[in-house]
Amino acid sequence: MMYDLIEVEPKLNKKKVAGAIIIVLLAIALIVFIILKHTKKNEDAITNSTAENEIINEVEEKTAEETQEAEVIVRDNPNYTEVGRELMSNIYHSEEKIAYLTFDDGPSKSVTPLLLDLLKQENIKATFFVLGSRAELNGDLIKREYDEGHYIANHGYSHIYGNIYQTPESVLEEYTRTRDIIKNILNTDYDGHLFRFPGGSSGGKYNSIKVEAKKILDENNIAYVDWNALSNDAAGAKTKEAIIQNTKDTVGTKNSVVILMHDAGDKILTYESLPEIIAYLREQGYNFKNFYDIMK
Ligand SMILES: [Zn+2]
Repeated sequence: MMYDLIEVEPKLNKKKVAGAIIIVLLAIALIVFIILKHTKKNEDAITNSTAENEIINEVEEKTAEETQEAEVIVRDNPNYTEVGRELMSNIYHSEEKIAYLTFDDGPSKSVTPLLLDLLKQENIKATFFVLGSRAELNGDLIKREYDEGHYIANHGYSHIYGNIYQTPESVLEEYTRTRDIIKNILNTDYDGHLFRFPGGSSGGKYNSIKVEAKKILDENNIAYVDWNALSNDAAGAKTKEAIIQNTKDTVGTKNSVVILMHDAGDKILTYESLPEIIAYLREQGYNFKNFYDIMK
């Protein structure tokens, strides 16, 4: 009996020890497993955050690049200084051949984007005499004109002679209203300081109003310009050929040409004529400028 007991006890102890060892080994394995898993998680987290940082850095670099690009295009706001006054009074006189392409009555959804594509392709900076009433409807196009380096000038709000030429003061009122619309769209202090009278700055039924309006504009540091060449795309020219011929004829042998064209919604022929007009002016030795070269 005693013997049996003695025999049984070591057997039991051996089993217990073996069991305990297995449990300890399992526990160690579990701990090692947990530690390894935790370390891996941390590594992943570090990798992830590194990757995130890289993405953030890339985004920041990209933004910086884009800002840099934008800074190249965005110019100082125009100003009408004494130098500008001198240059404006000689706008039609120059030693070198200069062509100012000017587009009135826009922007329009059907013509302006095509025109901007073409001007970009030709690397020409033009001048747009925009209407406030059109700018209100096409803010994105005003922004595009500005971003792409074109000069945004002012053609009043309504283009209705009975409204804009009601009094000399109403000319300034339409200028100011349009300027404020442009400022809001661009979200800058932009003021082109440059006006073009609908129908021209002199003559016609409203000549006496225009005479007084010019004085008021001048007192408010606003220049005005007409044109000395035109495509006649607003009145008369019904074909591409006629538009091209009218432009060639009126450019003639002048050195400095301010060419009147339009980018209202129905002026698709103007856009279609432009490649040939540009090629002709280049052939004749003209360099293209816009009013950023004057209003500094
Ligand atoms: Zn007009």
